[in-house]
Amino acid sequence: MVEKNDSPGKKLQEMLERKAIIGWDKVKGTPQWDEVFRLGEDYKDFLNQAKTEREAVNAISQRALASGFVPWEELEGKEFAPGTKFVRTFRGKAVVLGICGRDPLSAGLRLVGAHIDSPRLDLKPNPLYEGGNLALLKTHYYGGIKKYQWPVMPLALHGVVILADSRRIELALGEKEDDPVFTITDLLPHLGKEQAEKKLKEAIEGECLNVLAGHIPYAGDEEIKDRVKLAVLDYLHRQYGLIEEDFLTAEIEVVPAGKARDVGLDRSMVGAYGQDDRVCAYAMLHAILGMAAPRHTALAFFADKEEIGSMGNTGAQGPIPLQMVADLNRLTLGDDSPSSLRQVFAASAALSADVDGALDPTFESVMDKLNAARLGGGVVLTKYTGSGGKFGANDAHAEYLARLRRLFNREGIVWQIGELGKVDQGGGGTIAQFLANLGLEVVDCGVAVLSMHSPFEVTSKVDIYYTSRAYQAFWQAEKLGE
Ligand code: MN
Ligand code: MN
Repeated sequence: MVEKNDSPGKKLQEMLERKAIIGWDKVKGTPQWDEVFRLGEDYKDFLNQAKTEREAVNAISQRALASGFVPWEELEGKEFAPGTKFVRTFRGKAVVLGICGRDPLSAGLRLVGAHIDSPRLDLKPNPLYEGGNLALLKTHYYGGIKKYQWPVMPLALHGVVILADSRRIELALGEKEDDPVFTITDLLPHLGKEQAEKKLKEAIEGECLNVLAGHIPYAGDEEIKDRVKLAVLDYLHRQYGLIEEDFLTAEIEVVPAGKARDVGLDRSMVGAYGQDDRVCAYAMLHAILGMAAPRHTALAFFADKEEIGSMGNTGAQGPIPLQMVADLNRLTLGDDSPSSLRQVFAASAALSADVDGALDPTFESVMDKLNAARLGGGVVLTKYTGSGGKFGANDAHAEYLARLRRLFNREGIVWQIGELGKVDQGGGGTIAQFLANLGLEVVDCGVAVLSMHSPFEVTSKVDIYYTSRAYQAFWQAEKLGE
């Protein structure tokens, strides 16, 4: 008699079908279990330090410098020996960490690129006004938000104001325990009949996202207009020397106030604002800080502006990747001719370190369960993004994916595939296409996220662990899965 477990069908199934591995099962009972939770703690600290792209650049640079990376400017005229570690910032909003490889750059480099900007509200250039005995700040949203998610929660103001005398003021108001917070109001349900009948995307309009900033009127001269606004200006002037015109040139971001938290009784998940894409940024940072000289030069690119199309001189479509590689090639090989750079890029490989939407059991209907990433399923390889028939996607090549598959399997890295929703259900893009335009191989590779682009995104700690290991394996592999 054949035992049920040994039935021919069962054997065949085990041989042929792919069994999805859950990261938690793989680390259970191993020393990696504690490592997953240690990483989670450190990740939350990083998120608390880095709520804007500028703060992320500071946090990344600080950690890199503390781990022996040297400011790019200090390497001027010095030899770029294998193992040289550097940090180079760009306008305070993007940063590249690098480790020189043992092989010359002409053998190709390994680039991992994440973005450190997140969807948010920006103060308008002229934000401050008064109404109903209240001072308010007008905003213009940045990136793809669901506007109804932003009212009725504590908010913080982070940013930079440069005064008329060039004095620079960095704000982070609403984060300390005894700081006041800010908020956007919503209509009471008793009067919300008309609002409730609107489409969700129209119920809270962009011009409704006004931030409550003060209420006590300026005392002593009751004849003048807008006394609450004046009192707010007076406070800002006494506190920071700021006048209204300073707002016109400032950059102030409105983000959810408060710290990253553990989610779930088992503390298995992290809930926080800005995890797209600072979760991949963190995984990259953790991976590269722990590395010695790899064979191929390793670059970690933390880009700005992804959420609005990777535009500008701090975005991935801008000059940073080319400039970085041209400078390295000139400093190590004495050559930055277009043909030598084309050769470097052609021999190079990249991971676009960005998040993918995770299967949400509450909203399964928009996902294809066969192809959706799951929380706990490990690092996600997303072959293509785009929308309306992969439009605007970097569709990675089978040969490249096969090399990564071999690498991850060899290194015991739990990985899965992902696709951003059912066909024609929507879509999105990443920096992958812009990196691919330089001529290197690239595929999206990152962490699955629940409630993506919301003020409180959720990730799995075990996925962050395997994503960081995947990036490190990619940088350290002598040969990429050959
Ligand atoms: Mn992203
Ligand atoms: Mn995004």
